[in-house]
Amino acid sequence: MIERSVIISAGGIGKRMGAAIPKQFLNLVNRPVLFHTIEKFYQFDPEIQIIVVLPANQLDYWKALCAKHEFGIEYAIAKGGKERFFSVKNGLALAKGNVIGVHDAVRPLVSTEVIANCFSRAKEHGAAIPVFDISESIRKLDANGSKAVDRNSYKMVQTPQCFQRDIIKKAYSVDFSKEFTDDASVVEKNGTFIHLIEGNEANIKITRPIDLRMAETLLQGE
Ligand code: C5P
Repeated sequence: MIERSVIISAGGIGKRMGAAIPKQFLNLVNRPVLFHTIEKFYQFDPEIQIIVVLPANQLDYWKALCAKHEFGIEYAIAKGGKERFFSVKNGLALAKGNVIGVHDAVRPLVSTEVIANCFSRAKEHGAAIPVFDISESIRKLDANGSKAVDRNSYKMVQTPQCFQRDIIKKAYSVDFSKEFTDDASVVEKNGTFIHLIEGNEANIKITRPIDLRMAETLLQGE
């Protein structure tokens, strides 16, 4: 019996970082971002089933990176899809754990504590995701311009997002919708209550070049 699985979604080929390779393969303290992310889950639980979703046209490149850096952790590979939804769905087909987490490959700074809390709350309640306070003021755009809204009514959402196996597998049997920006939105659409847990401040999503520089500093401080 497999207790836990994690699907690490690295299926995107977006190049918003201005580099020639996808951001999950960029170097972070001398090794690819994705190595650090996989290691976080292995450190949490060496028995966890790890599924990495990779862009179909980057498999050879990834394998060469693993060989070059002698990356030794075992994992299964699923192929990326056109949208993150399809990438996760491909990963889910291989996932056997009683509780399944889905994590952005580009969040290598998630803490072991957040991973542990998220898996245990999902085991207990069905669905759990890490969130964090918004420190900036925020405004909602409307036809007349924009209007200030109460930032205390909103949270930033992180990953891993964790679910009991039957809940996430059933939720992902629907057709894709543009509303699905993360796994919680898919699961919630199917009627499941989403429990919120406290995320960790350093768990940033590497999206812009400045994020990579911040991640370098944070990782060196760990
Ligand atoms: O593009 P975005 O920054 O939202 O991607 C978040 C995560 O989802 C990244 O780790 C990316 O590789 C992954 N992703 C995916 N398949 C896609 C698009 C994004 O696995 N089609």
